[in-house]
Amino acid sequence: MYGNTKFLWKNIHSLSSWIADLKGVAMECRPGCGACCIAPSISSPIPGMPHGKPAGVRCVQLGPDNRCALFGKKERPEFCSGLRPSPEMCGTNFDEAFAYLMRLEQLSKPDQISHKRGII
Ligand code: SF4
Ligand code: SF4
Repeated sequence: MYGNTKFLWKNIHSLSSWIADLKGVAMECRPGCGACCIAPSISSPIPGMPHGKPAGVRCVQLGPDNRCALFGKKERPEFCSGLRPSPEMCGTNFDEAFAYLMRLEQLSKPDQISHKRGII
């Protein structure tokens, strides 16, 4: 269901992480944030969410302290392991990160992609 967005999403974010690395501004995850465990859709199964996660829905593996209960475990989706903090994505607080991630999610919707390709 959410698979259509995966390729574009991953590539947009990989590019922004790569640019951040190149600029020497890579950063650590902000403790207690959790925006990237709520905003993006995740197409792969997550324990407790066998069909993945829709955009804007809190992952069931995100604890009350906003830390991932699967961190370091093999059950953690590849999407999550590959998502690296960057100033562009994470901003300076939860709201900035959430807004950025939801914007990416909107941009990677199939109808948006079709418009960009001139299909519709
Ligand atoms: S958006 Fe950035 S700071 Fe927030 S949880 Fe994700 S990686 Fe960490
Ligand atoms: S599995 Fe962990 S890292 Fe991935 S969305 Fe859920 S809480 Fe976040």
